Amino acid sequence: MKLNALYKKALKEHFAIGAFNFNNLETLKAIVDACLAASTPALVCVSEGAFSYMGEACIGMFRAEKKRYKDIFLHLDHGKSFEMCKKAIDLGFDSVMIDASSLSFEKNVALTKKVVDYAHARGVWVEAELGVIGGTEDLVSAKKAIFTDAEEAKKFISLAKADSLAVAIGTSHGAYKFSGESKLNFKRLGEIEKAIPKTPLVLHGASSVPEKYVELLNAYGGDLKGAKGVDEKSLKTACTRHNICKINSDTDLRIAFTAGVREHLLKNPENFDPRKYLSQGKKYVTEAVLEKFRYLSK
Ligand SMILES: [Zn+2]
Repeated sequence: MKLNALYKKALKEHFAIGAFNFNNLETLKAIVDACLAASTPALVCVSEGAFSYMGEACIGMFRAEKKRYKDIFLHLDHGKSFEMCKKAIDLGFDSVMIDASSLSFEKNVALTKKVVDYAHARGVWVEAELGVIGGTEDLVSAKKAIFTDAEEAKKFISLAKADSLAVAIGTSHGAYKFSGESKLNFKRLGEIEKAIPKTPLVLHGASSVPEKYVELLNAYGGDLKGAKGVDEKSLKTACTRHNICKINSDTDLRIAFTAGVREHLLKNPENFDPRKYLSQGKKYVTEAVLEKFRYLSK
């Protein structure tokens, strides 16, 4: 299946494509193991930080994994400049995100449009962002969230011609999202959908921070206190009753991976074979991805 056909299907049938960040071979293989087990397509994402960590090795790993399961797509997460997006496109990414949301509306439109022109000429999908998603993750950080405005979204899409749009409706990047209950603004989401009904929408900062892995991580010497994510019921509603067609997960997979590595090392102090402790991390990432697949669709 082609990526644009997959987004079309997601918008029409109300499900979301899982988008999972990877930073190494183990995480990528773990995600693809879950895709294979559930026969479910996914986007595998490389952030700018992950790209500087893995270098172009991520392309080779992706191509090898695509031979195991054909319905995975390589996506650049939070590209901050035209140069970074161009580099990803030239290297063969299927999809790029240009995140110019910290710029003025006009500058966001101009930069997004520049990326769109380059990408579309090469058959590559472009995700843009409007509004400010709070929190911190990797190289992306914002103190105060600003919800996406529906009228602005309409104007933005008609000018910049992005294929999909990341919206700010109350999610937040990182493991420490909320002090109280998490709340997605479904009213605002509805307004945005009405304004741009044909544009697949994207949720960033939508980690649920599963208690199971936080507890495991802490039980084996970690110290992640008071971590809290978006509740899974809200995420399911956003995916299956709204136009959210892509949900990003990075934090959750990091927590699951680290929990597995910690568990193995503490239980097996004599072991010094990285393949063994990394395998336990990998196993938990596969489990975490499979759990996510369950609420991304009906
Ligand atoms: Zn993000």
